[in-house]
Amino acid sequence: KNIHVRSTIQSYDIVIGNHIRHHIKDQLDKNYSSILIITDSNVGKLYAQDIHDGLNQKNIFIEIVDAGEQSKNIETFYNLHTKAIEYGLDRQSLIIALGGGVIGDLAGFVAATYMRGIDFIQVPTTLLAHDSSVGGKVAINHDKGKNLIGSFYPPVLVLYDTDTLQTLPPKEIRSGYAELIKEAMLSDSGLWNKLLSQHLDRITPADLEQFLEMGIKIKAEIVQQDERESGVRKFLNLGHTLGHAIEADLGYGVLTHGEAVAIGLLFAFYVSEQELQAVLPIQELRDWLKRNEYPFLVNTDRIDELIDLMKRDKKTEHNQIQMVLLNKIGDPVTHIVEENKLKNYLTSFVEREI
Ligand code: NAD
Ligand code: ZN
Repeated sequence: KNIHVRSTIQSYDIVIGNHIRHHIKDQLDKNYSSILIITDSNVGKLYAQDIHDGLNQKNIFIEIVDAGEQSKNIETFYNLHTKAIEYGLDRQSLIIALGGGVIGDLAGFVAATYMRGIDFIQVPTTLLAHDSSVGGKVAINHDKGKNLIGSFYPPVLVLYDTDTLQTLPPKEIRSGYAELIKEAMLSDSGLWNKLLSQHLDRITPADLEQFLEMGIKIKAEIVQQDERESGVRKFLNLGHTLGHAIEADLGYGVLTHGEAVAIGLLFAFYVSEQELQAVLPIQELRDWLKRNEYPFLVNTDRIDELIDLMKRDKKTEHNQIQMVLLNKIGDPVTHIVEENKLKNYLTSFVEREI
């Protein structure tokens, strides 16, 4: 299956299929002088050789970084540049990002900056990466905040081998599935009902493939309208104001990104009820998250810290807290919530959930 994404920087195709990692060569429409595969310590063991063999050419190099968010740092970024220079990569070379969102963001930013930019291909291997591999955002973290150093740099191709999702730990399935729920909340495609009628322990690969394809289409539709996030792309931050604050407050890695976003989505429903008098399936989402073992790691004694973190969110404008809320499923709006009100909402939300 092919989804085409239009971009003012560079348009690209997303190819989704089972076992397509073995046939990457068929998808290339250029000859590359050399190829650097960047992957992490978990994914490298499982799939780097398949990609290497499927490319079937000379001058292929593999660089493996530690798995986890901490690899999105300036040292790893610099070391990868050093390797690229040592391997002799030139402007006709290609970088392949093989892994989840961490590798996509890191390898993508290396590709964006190496010799002012060389081609790169995303080979996403997590469910969450259906989100991160579409839309052209690449970045590394600064000690003072996540994704603060980055660029808009679309890949030339996204090759999504759904077979690789088979080896994902349950926590990582939960993580990516939360972003699918977010996309479902932003659209009236019927995805919401499909997603919430499933149990994650019993989901079939065919269903998962269908859902991630729908999620990608929803995301692609939005970023095509607003590549640089001056308007509708902001809606993709649904659930993320609180989600990011929870992740930062707990320390990265305690919850997966999507597990934190799931709490944020529930909170977005709650605030939408309060601020917009919206009628939303909050109980349905709450029950579904419980059944599927999403942790609720928020405590009433962290409210002040969370509010401070929400104020510092880089999406904040003029020091006001802007949230994405919903009038109904498929009808998002951005909305400024006054700090005191937000604090009250968060307190009663947390008291009710724990
Ligand atoms: P990740 O890349 O760290 O992967 C999660 C874990 O799963 C890692 O331990 C990894 O080694 C392992 N893994 C990956 N694929 C596997 C497989 N097939 N089998 C077994 N294990 C596998 O995390 P992620 O959740 O994919 O991505 C999170 C990152 O994505 C964050 O840094 C976030 O900022 C970024 N992100 C970027 C965008 C964007 O638009 N650029 C959007 C959302 C998130
Ligand atoms: Zn997210």
